[in-house]
Amino acid sequence: MKNRPHIAIIGAGAAGCFCGALLGELLPGADVTILEAGRQPMAKLSITGGGRCNITNTFKDTGALKAYPRGGRLMEHLLKGFGPDDVCRWFSDRGVKFVCQEDQCIFPASQDAMQIVRILRKACEDAGVKIRCSCPVSGITSLEDGGFALTVCDGEVLKADIAVITIGGLSSAKLCRVFEGLGIELVKPVPSLFSLKTESSIKELAGAVVNPVKVSLEGTKLGAIGPLLVTDWGFSGPAVLKLSSYAARDLAESGYKGTLAVNWMYDCTEEEVMDLLEGYSGNYRHKNIASVYPPKLTGRLWNFIISKADIKENVKFAELSAKQRRRLCSMLLHDTYPITGRGRFKDEFVTCGGVPLGQVNSSTLESRSHPGLYFAGEVLDIDAVTGGFNLQAAWTTAHRVANSIKESI
Ligand SMILES: Cc1cc2nc3c(=O)[nH]c(=O)nc-3n(C[C@H](O)[C@H](O)[C@H](O)COP(=O)(O)OP(=O)(O)OC[C@H]3O[C@@H](n4cnc5c(N)ncnc54)[C@H](O)[C@@H]3O)c2cc1C
Repeated sequence: MKNRPHIAIIGAGAAGCFCGALLGELLPGADVTILEAGRQPMAKLSITGGGRCNITNTFKDTGALKAYPRGGRLMEHLLKGFGPDDVCRWFSDRGVKFVCQEDQCIFPASQDAMQIVRILRKACEDAGVKIRCSCPVSGITSLEDGGFALTVCDGEVLKADIAVITIGGLSSAKLCRVFEGLGIELVKPVPSLFSLKTESSIKELAGAVVNPVKVSLEGTKLGAIGPLLVTDWGFSGPAVLKLSSYAARDLAESGYKGTLAVNWMYDCTEEEVMDLLEGYSGNYRHKNIASVYPPKLTGRLWNFIISKADIKENVKFAELSAKQRRRLCSMLLHDTYPITGRGRFKDEFVTCGGVPLGQVNSSTLESRSHPGLYFAGEVLDIDAVTGGFNLQAAWTTAHRVANSIKESI
């Protein structure tokens, strides 16, 4: 290796820029260039968390294995080297203050993703790391005498001693083509973190939120608990986004068709729900059943459930038969809706799939087949549920790669 190795990072997103900034600090003499297809670096980072940047998570409520449906084991291991406290410390040292929400999501106190973008840009600049924008890399090949040849859009070929691929989620076939010259077979990329479409008339209740509920994909063991939002196309909210992450592959394979099971009262047993309904029948004998309902439901949703259970809303509790009570109980615990497609994505969307983890050394994130080639960020087959875990994966893997490169020189 030369005294002043040339390191090319492909993709100036969260992982690429963080890796560049760290390399600049760890290897002051190195010649580091980040090649970015877009006109600006970190365009996606600037809109994360609805522009507020959910930079990480405390992991107190969700351990790595639950947070990362793909790559959980590797992340559990890598987080020991660079976890959420380390992320906060790195950015705090550069002036960022943080707030931690009740749901354990961590944001900059400024509530401004651009603060994080500016800090990474400055760290790269201060360390002498060059960012070349409007410079998409269309192919990479290994050279016989070591190093890599990178073809950029206008046919220019750049040579690098070390290459780091940080091109993010492989959401299009064009992005996947970068790997053709390397002979790396990708885990088929499919979307994760999406809402679900349904044809049910529940859509008329758009805007209703019930928290918490349990949603699951029938025919699988996959389920998620959290707030559920009814939208004008179907279902969204944290519970559905989490389920879409766990079931990303199953749903892709079925063409986004299936049955969504909703347990509106998942925190109660069947006996407790029956007791509750019997209690209503005893205490509110002369009231319409539409007027008294479990506190976490809304009146409109309760009416919808009553009518789905084939009971008229002007029936008095005293008139409710045992059979109708059982039907209502079953509707509360095992309501189902046909899934007819994938909805518009919410404000956090990632791809599941990418570079197979079996192809990389789990301690260094270096390619097993191409020494000197590293991967960080979403391009790896690592993705998470919402809550700051996806950015944490970008920081953690970028940190690992920068340190592996330093150790290799
Ligand atoms: C709207 C939205 C909001 C989100 N909010 C959050 C959040 O609050 N918290 C959280 O944890 N996660 C969030 N995510 C997910 C998170 O943004 C990603 O997981 C994270 O950005 C991945 O970082 P990355 O560096 O791997 O990829 P990216 O940030 O996608 O960066 C990849 C870069 O590579 C460039 N590139 C691609 N191909 C080439 C090529 N051939 N040559 C050169 N350059 C190339 C791209 O232009 C891009 O700039 C959000 C995602 C979206 C879409």
